Amino acid sequence: MDQKKQHQAEANTSIDRTAEVWKALEEVRDPEIPVLSLVDLKIIQSVEVAEDRVKVEMVPTFAGCPALNMMRNEVVAKLQSLGFEHVDVEFTFHRRWSTDDLSEEALKKLRAFGIAPPVRLTLPEAENHIERLQRAVAQPVVCPFCGSTETKLDAFFGSMLCKQLYFCMTCQQSFDRFKPL
Ligand SMILES: [Zn+2]
Repeated sequence: MDQKKQHQAEANTSIDRTAEVWKALEEVRDPEIPVLSLVDLKIIQSVEVAEDRVKVEMVPTFAGCPALNMMRNEVVAKLQSLGFEHVDVEFTFHRRWSTDDLSEEALKKLRAFGIAPPVRLTLPEAENHIERLQRAVAQPVVCPFCGSTETKLDAFFGSMLCKQLYFCMTCQQSFDRFKPL
């Protein structure tokens, strides 16, 4: 094999390995919202593969979310199982994670799972992030089961920090609301 071909082969292997890593990360679920993977949640920012090393950059979601360490450990274990000797997981604080990062597909999955998805913060008339948040929080919470807006907050903290527990007066069921952030 000449040198050019060899370089090409190495580059292809690295692309395959990178795709393999992304695929594996799609299997790592958020411990609090098992219907979404870390890839769905856009928590995984980037993946870099070099021989037996892999570096994964993650954006922390809810500050102080107790699940962060658990997620890191799961990512490490998952990638070690693919044969990587060195797995580096770094949290990046360069950009703020927002529930607006979630795709429509991810919101649909949440609803199907019985969680009221976060409302979009992208309200053009809002002045700044705080105002957008306040407006989003003030919007009616739609029951994921029957679509009713006749819902009320049951407890300030839902089952977890990132969620709030709601009750639907129409269908009489409790559900979690994913807080907008
Ligand atoms: Zn309902």
